[in-house]
Amino acid sequence: MSASFHSVPDQTPLDNWVAAKPDTGLQLVDQHRRPELEYPKVALSNLCLSYRTQSGERLLALDHINLQVRAGEFVCIVGPSGCGKSTLLHLIAGLQPPASGLVVVDGKLVHGPGTDRILIFQDHGLFPWLTVGQNVEFGMKMKGVPRAERQEKTRHYLKLVHLAKFENSYIHQLSGGMRQRVAIARALATEPDVLLMDEPFAALDAQTRDLLHDELERIWNDTGRTILFVTHNVREAVRLADRVVLLTFRPGRIKNEFPIDLPRPRHIEDLAVARTSRAILDELREEINRSLEAEYQVGMKPRIEPGVSA
Ligand code: ADP
Ligand code: MG
Repeated sequence: MSASFHSVPDQTPLDNWVAAKPDTGLQLVDQHRRPELEYPKVALSNLCLSYRTQSGERLLALDHINLQVRAGEFVCIVGPSGCGKSTLLHLIAGLQPPASGLVVVDGKLVHGPGTDRILIFQDHGLFPWLTVGQNVEFGMKMKGVPRAERQEKTRHYLKLVHLAKFENSYIHQLSGGMRQRVAIARALATEPDVLLMDEPFAALDAQTRDLLHDELERIWNDTGRTILFVTHNVREAVRLADRVVLLTFRPGRIKNEFPIDLPRPRHIEDLAVARTSRAILDELREEINRSLEAEYQVGMKPRIEPGVSA
């Protein structure tokens, strides 16, 4: 597998290397020789998951995913639609168990949801009958945080996302970008170590998305959280990430990893971001082509892998 963390003898073939290309921000990394982290924040080992399709067959969604994320790292996961990105975040969030393999956060095996991780998605799941402030308080209430502390934290996190003035507004009074910022404030207020973000900005217009990139980068800087951010937008991934992980189309496997060594703050329109994206996009395109072929294939059957149970 291309992204195994286990060391192998010296005869590693050359194509295991992500070549250092001038001006691309990509570093020279030997995928097979990335050292195991001593204390990874998140460690996925040999994660597999399959779904049962309507016709009763098993669809292998994730196949032996091995990934280690260090504390405070910003990792973006990219891949074509249907490659298992959301599934991967659900497994880390503990919303569903893997068929095999392990999810370990802070050295502890994940058995289910926990307050150390939180999932933020595109459909931000805010409550329309609550005010902005009450929405932010909600997660803390569930966690049993006392009222005075909740109110203090609500104000703090609303300030952090520049929504202090909207504490008493209702969700329908806010724009899409503001709603997403409320969702981020609500998630941050529960003070999770790990933020799992599933295409959170995909439905926003480009200008709002750019602003939220800046805000998320600033919040990440200020809070030191570990972020796993799923997107199908390579530019967005390069704009945000310390490392971009590319998944293959069905079954989802790690095809390659790209450490992004560009200075921050970045902008999605930066030339360096565009250049770095190009190299990743070339690899992603192969997978998108595979997904399109599968889509257009009449009477297509999902790929069935033997020996993996759901
Ligand atoms: P992505 O987020 O990358 O678009 P998903 O993780 O949502 O991909 O899905 C991966 C694959 O698993 C897809 O082929 C999808 O159709 C399938 N899948 C996802 N959820 C289910 C489910 N609950 N039941 C059956 N198949 C599913
Ligand atoms: Mg998805």
